Formats: sequence, structure tokens, C-alpha cells
Amino acid sequence: MQVIAAAMLVGVLGLACLRPVVARAASSTASRRGALAFFSAGSTAPRRQHRLPVAGAGPRTGAALVQTRAAAVTIAAAETVDATEKLKDIYTLTEKEIEEFLQTELKQPRYRAKQVYAWLYQRGATSFDDMNDLPKALRAGLAEHFALGCLEVAFEQVSKDGTIKRAYRLADGQLIESVLMPYEDGRRTACISSQAGCAMGCAFCQTGQMGFARQLTDAEIFQQALLFSRDLAKEGLYRLSNVVFMGEGEPLNNRKQVFSAVRRLNSDLKIGARHITVSTVGLVPRIRDLADTVDDLEGEGGLLSQIKLAVSLHATTDRGRTAIMPVNKRFPIAELMSACQYYVQRTNRRISFEWALISGQNDSPKVADELGRLLAPLKGKCHVNVINVNPTTGFDGKPGGKASMERFLNILNEDWGIPATMRVSWRGGCVLRLLSISVFLFFFPCLSFYFLFVVCCFSLS
Ligand code: SF4
Repeated sequence: MQVIAAAMLVGVLGLACLRPVVARAASSTASRRGALAFFSAGSTAPRRQHRLPVAGAGPRTGAALVQTRAAAVTIAAAETVDATEKLKDIYTLTEKEIEEFLQTELKQPRYRAKQVYAWLYQRGATSFDDMNDLPKALRAGLAEHFALGCLEVAFEQVSKDGTIKRAYRLADGQLIESVLMPYEDGRRTACISSQAGCAMGCAFCQTGQMGFARQLTDAEIFQQALLFSRDLAKEGLYRLSNVVFMGEGEPLNNRKQVFSAVRRLNSDLKIGARHITVSTVGLVPRIRDLADTVDDLEGEGGLLSQIKLAVSLHATTDRGRTAIMPVNKRFPIAELMSACQYYVQRTNRRISFEWALISGQNDSPKVADELGRLLAPLKGKCHVNVINVNPTTGFDGKPGGKASMERFLNILNEDWGIPATMRVSWRGGCVLRLLSISVFLFFFPCLSFYFLFVVCCFSLS
């Protein structure tokens, strides 16, 4: 017994000695977490909070980050320019253009274009060699002239529930993020980016904190969804059913490219316009323009007036909203709500309002009540999606708790009759995973030391 007591005493002393070592281990875990920011943040839900997948991005200020980003782009562009100049991306061609190329350049019959097109958009070819019902010479001819897409998967993380979060590397080295979210009812939704970075500067969003890099082309936008669709086609179980423009960027600030991508989602991936959601921070003239597309139902309006519109709101007063969304200075809440009413009247479509719940800021019953009052004129034509805010390095807001979430939803649903639902967050899983690693790193060396020490004491006695 005396030996055991002595062993325990020395073991405790050993733990005390090891504390600095353990602290170092824990802090190195924390710094790795910085490098993994992209993967540790986010949710399965469509969202208006984004993190740039820049390795090692820490809590730096906007200007420094933009410079860092620009420097990285220059270097990356120099490295990739050769590869991008050589081959044309086959996904930028229409079926007609593929047919013309095959006929004139490769002397192929017309039906080959249909085969190629089906491989590109329905049969999930990831290389020209996959197109195994085409003659070998034709596959080689295609590979000689074309690249199969303009995106490269730079990082990927798959969560327990099957959510896939990706960073795509563009030809100039920019990284953008996209997420594929599975739902139990069989839906598969891609959340895609419309810009590299973002100029809107929402305080709670890491992309906003890091600034704007450039507009994405329609091909870069469309192919984020296409690659998910292609992977799903290969698995053969589900198809990509929905697309939401809630990744990086403000979609209505890159309308031409976004709407062109929308057309391709509809025509090439056969995703109905009602299954495509475009979100906005509230660019009032653009919301009105979108509403006015109903004037051209025979043309562009036929498609665009059918897409879903989601508006990021997050506050009920101009003061509160301007504090977290600078765009509110330009387009205050009254103007925004008037544009939303105009949109609903003209298109007869519902609007979704996005609400990131921030503890102590916008999660109180009083705010829920104010929100109900604000949306009352749109009752029956709107829906509120509530999601806990994702903590980011440059924003000290914390997610609202379960109780405040439930209270908030109840007030909207029951007191105001405004349908409101909570979006499920993926973050919990990631945080738990990181927490368990940290706990393991903290305690494992101590326990091992203690165990070894006790064993040694026993053997000596
Ligand atoms: Fe972030 Fe821009 Fe979206 Fe605001 S609009 S949440 S800054 S990506």
C-alpha cells in the first residue's frame, strides 16, 4: 500500500511537471486548427457566412489579407498559366459546338456529340478514357484538344452525415469553397460560390473580413455544381437536385455570370429553376430587377422569375444591421422590405429570410417579436431560416443556444404565423472532434507517464 501511495504521489507530481509540455502540445493543436480553419468552420446548411480556404489564415486584418491573397494569386498564376493556355475547357462548349468540332476537326458522325454530351453531363465521366463507348482514337482526339473542366479539388472533407465540403483551386490559384449537403428525403443540394472572396464585408463572415478577389466566370460557378453532380452520377444512387448560391460572394453583384450559370444548371444538369436559390445581402435595385424579369416571360424571365430568392436579414433595426452588414447603410431595412414586397407582388414567389442567431444580439424574444412585425406584411409569402452563427476569428459573436433558438422559432411560428425553421449545423461535429483530439493530447501523455511510473514502482518493489 505504501508503495502504491508513493507511486500515486509521484504520479501527481509528474503530472504537474508535465503541464508545460502538455500546454505546448495543446497550443500546437490550436495552431494546426488555424490551418484547418476551412474544414473546422461551416455547416451543412446553406449559409451566408463563409471562410476562405487560405492555408494558415489567422486573425489578420482585411488589408493585409487582401495583399497576401494578391501575392499568392500572382505566384499561382505564373505556375498555372501554361496549363490553362493549352487546352480549352470542353464544358464551355454547347452541344452544338461539340457537334461542329467533332464533325469538322475529328471527322466524326453527328451522333457522337450526343454521346460525348451525355458523358459530360449525365454519365459522370471524370476523364475522356471513361467514355468507353467512344472509339479509342476519338477519346485520344478529345484529350488532345480539351481539358475536362476548369476546377481542381484542392481540399475535401466528408462529415459523418455525408456532407462534402470542398475547396476548389481555380486556374489562377484562387481557392473557392463549395458544399454538397445530403438530406434524408433524397435531396442533394450543392451550395456554391459566385465570387472569389466578397466585397460586402459582413462582420460575422470570414470571407467578408478577407475582402474581394475577383468575379467568377459562369464556367467556374457552374462547374462547382457539375462536379458534385458528376460524382453523384458515378455513384448512381442520387442526382443533384438543388443548388443554392450561398457560398462565397454576393451573387447579385455578379449577375451576368450567375444567371448564365443558372441557365446551364437548368439546361445541362436538368435542375428546375424552383430548385435553385440565389441569395443576397439585400441589393435593392437588383431585387427589383429580378422581380421585373416577369416582363420577359418568353425570354430570360421565364427562368429567372422562377428561381428562389433568399435575403440575409439578421437584424430588425438599421443600427443593429449596419453594425454587422455594411450594405445596410446603402440600402436600409425599410427600402429592403419595400423591394421584397415588390418582388413578391410581381413574381408571386415566396422569399426566404436568412437569420444567423447571435447570442445576446439578435436572439431575444423582443427581437423575434420585432422580426415577426417586420415580416407581417409578407405573411404567407415568406419563410425564415434560422441558423446559429459560425464563430469566426474576426467576430466575437457567439451562437445562440438551443433554448433561445426554440424560443425564437416559437415566437415567429406561433405568435406571428411566419414559418420559421432551424437549419442544422455541421459545426457541432467538427467542434466535438477537435475537442476530443485536444482532450486526448492533453491527458494521454499524463496518463501514460503515470501508468508507466506505477508499473516501474511495482516492479522495483
Ligand atoms: Fe460573407 Fe459576402 Fe456572404 Fe456577406 S455577402 S456573408 S461578406 S460572402
